[in-house]
Amino acid sequence: MELILDCGDYSLNSSLAPSFISSLYESLGSGAWVKVAGKLGGRLRLEQRGRRLIIISTAEISRAELEHIAILETGLWHEEFERGIGRLPAGFREAAEALAETYPGVRIPIAPWDFEHILMAVLLSKRASYEIVRRWCRRLWEMFQGDLRMLASAKPTALRRITRSYQLLDAVRSMRDLMRIVEEPRRIREEIIERFGAPREPLSSYILCMPPEAARVILLSAWGIGPKVADSTILSTFKAPHFIPCDVHLRKFITRLSLAEDFKMPEKSLCKRFLCNSEPALGLDPCPSRRCLRAILRPLGELGGWMQTLIYLHGKECCRSMKPRCDKCSLRRLCASSTSFQD
Ligand code: SF4
Ligand code: SF4
Repeated sequence: MELILDCGDYSLNSSLAPSFISSLYESLGSGAWVKVAGKLGGRLRLEQRGRRLIIISTAEISRAELEHIAILETGLWHEEFERGIGRLPAGFREAAEALAETYPGVRIPIAPWDFEHILMAVLLSKRASYEIVRRWCRRLWEMFQGDLRMLASAKPTALRRITRSYQLLDAVRSMRDLMRIVEEPRRIREEIIERFGAPREPLSSYILCMPPEAARVILLSAWGIGPKVADSTILSTFKAPHFIPCDVHLRKFITRLSLAEDFKMPEKSLCKRFLCNSEPALGLDPCPSRRCLRAILRPLGELGGWMQTLIYLHGKECCRSMKPRCDKCSLRRLCASSTSFQD
């Protein structure tokens, strides 16, 4: 089956490449990607030709279902984020304009049906480059045929055939610990259980049925899942573009452009007890931290995850930790730090 969508100024490459959804895809070059794992793995191909997106699938599903999957996994479910730039606070607005011009057409792909795959890819990315993570994921998906329950019970000897890096052992430990929550519901906040019932199998369906803010609190109750992992997983599996994974690229960018001062990074001990909001909701009190970066960035609203993605792209391309390429940077006129990096 083949579908063709008019995608306007959207960019499939720029949207998929920085997203954890791409751990389930292989790039064929020249704007074409095939899905190799997860839902429709081996049976879905996406290709952009100019302003047209071509979706091809050999799966026996209806056109409406295929379109639904493709729209979510490409990020086309959300209108162009660029339209909201005018509503951003001063300082962020100018930075967003310059970033959007440099990295046009970026949206936020999501794949709720591949929740466990995405969580695994995000866990593996702790202190590892995304290129390496994609390589590990490819081998993991092949070896465990996408059965992450099998992966969670795998012996270290089997895992070492993929990599001897600690990230894989830690990721499997986190997955196992998260799955154990079904037997130990007392580990998650009573308020969540009162509202949504006790955790049940499959855990991913239970998590996906609740608002993203509550899902965040559950994910954070597991060993090795911190705010960045929880936020990246939710950004890639829920319609929650206001979720902002606070990573090193974001911290560096905010500091270098002096967009916030004296801020702190999110703290797991607070995130798993409080709601990351300024008002109470879901029976949970709002977090008391006022200097937390995620709280400071709340006014970005729906553009938060998109801006974080552009900042990630810019961190890889230009604003590197060591020797940033300020001479080639489109944000140079906005950046107080540019001169400090000149030879
Ligand atoms: S404001 Fe509080 S809950 Fe939100 S990320 Fe920061 S520490 Fe966590
Ligand atoms: S001018 Fe340099 S430090 Fe500033 S954002 Fe650009 S690359 Fe980063």
